[in-house]
Amino acid sequence: ALPTGLFINNEFVKSQSDGKIVSISPSDESEIASVEAAGPEDVDRAVKAARAALHSPEWGGISNTERGALIYKLADLLEAHKDTLATLEAWDNGKPFSVARDDDLGEAIAVLRYYAGWADKIHGLTIPTTPQKFAYTLKQPIGVCGKIIPWNFPIMMAVWKLGPALACGNTIVLKPAEQTPISILYFATLLQKAGFPPGVINIINGYGKEAGDALVTHPDVDKIAFTGSTVTARYIMKGASVNLKALTLETGGKSPLVIFEDADLDQAAKWGHLGIMYNQGQVCTSTSRILVHESVYQEYITRFKKITLENKIGNPFEDDTFQGPQVTRAQYDRILKYIATGKSEGAKLVTGGNPHKNIQGKGFYIEPTVFCDVKENMQIFQEEVFGPFVSITPFKAEQEAINLANGTSYGLGAALFSKDIERCHRVAASLESGMVWINSSNDSDIRVPFGGVKQSGVGRELGEAGLAAYSQTKAVHVNLG
Ligand code: ADP
Repeated sequence: ALPTGLFINNEFVKSQSDGKIVSISPSDESEIASVEAAGPEDVDRAVKAARAALHSPEWGGISNTERGALIYKLADLLEAHKDTLATLEAWDNGKPFSVARDDDLGEAIAVLRYYAGWADKIHGLTIPTTPQKFAYTLKQPIGVCGKIIPWNFPIMMAVWKLGPALACGNTIVLKPAEQTPISILYFATLLQKAGFPPGVINIINGYGKEAGDALVTHPDVDKIAFTGSTVTARYIMKGASVNLKALTLETGGKSPLVIFEDADLDQAAKWGHLGIMYNQGQVCTSTSRILVHESVYQEYITRFKKITLENKIGNPFEDDTFQGPQVTRAQYDRILKYIATGKSEGAKLVTGGNPHKNIQGKGFYIEPTVFCDVKENMQIFQEEVFGPFVSITPFKAEQEAINLANGTSYGLGAALFSKDIERCHRVAASLESGMVWINSSNDSDIRVPFGGVKQSGVGRELGEAGLAAYSQTKAVHVNLG
């Protein structure tokens, strides 16, 4: 049976606050399980366990090569248990099973191997200063890292944050999202099997305002890495100021996709569709605002609509399902509200706009919804919807497109389609975003830094930049006399 406890010191324990989270399957609204939810005293226990493990002989005292070997072992276990984890992910989150297995788990395994490979390549520098002096730097762990995880890619997001932190020798208290508490509990059993010493990785399910807040404000936590909404990130920044915690924040987006008149329209429609509809539109880098040159505007909408209508919406466990249900009723309601807003703001509905009547008549399914003639001042142009919901806006000139693209408070991703190579690089440099995709959309690679500017976040994950976020540099000055 699936464990339901809090995972502290490599054991599943009961919550001292008697808190519970009931997980609901978004595809049929049935109850999956009731699991323990942490209160502040449980957070404190987990932080103490992580603190004790930090300098323990079994973790602090082993070589980076040995830490790398443990991470490799975990990757192998994830691979061996991929189907089970993907089943739990699809059940709890609603994403298609094949997406969970091939994309989420596939990437999680790759991320672990990538950072396992880095573990023995983390080192400082020697700096000659004067003939009698030199300095060297040591790369040391930051310490106890609190990790606050969203529900859209539960295992993958956890692993993005675990891989580099473990490679650098940190210890961890991880709080999954309350909407998706299940797969990570099975993942915890793999941590036991991999042989991580007690306290190195603690996993505490819990609610944001209780467990999340207690972790953020705990004086003995050294860093918080968070992925979630911009509103919550603001609370976290404030809470983390109690002891000046280091922060990595990956927050919301309203990423533009700009289609110039010389774009390959088939490719632009294919990527544009995937860029927003993938994972039920629940991706922070979704290209949710499409800006199209007026000369190809109608044609682009026609092609986009065609692809949208071809994709199957249905049960996450059916082979050819492209779109499953939204993760929770709250998200489902929120998206329906934005659909109503779009209609009342005067945007033109191209397709969708309703709850989707799936086969069972239950579950949080929504029709993929496309609005066109969306204006810059409309709410649906400015606010993150986080669903299968896209807005399309025409433009006349390159500078107008750049202004529209940069015209929100967000700055996560941005994409453009053109065959003019000079224009591609010129526009890429002008877009206010942490990532730009030229002739693709909403793409990432574990070797490439991921993160946002403006209100889309602070810091970078993945790649070497993600690794750098988990060490501190100590400078040692040596006087030879
Ligand atoms: P969403 O609105 O998509 O659920 P959130 O930003 O609220 O996104 O949630 C992302 C993660 O942040 C979840 O793990 C959630 O429990 C956590 N969280 C929410 N509120 C707080 C808070 N005040 N302090 C710390 N963590 C929080």
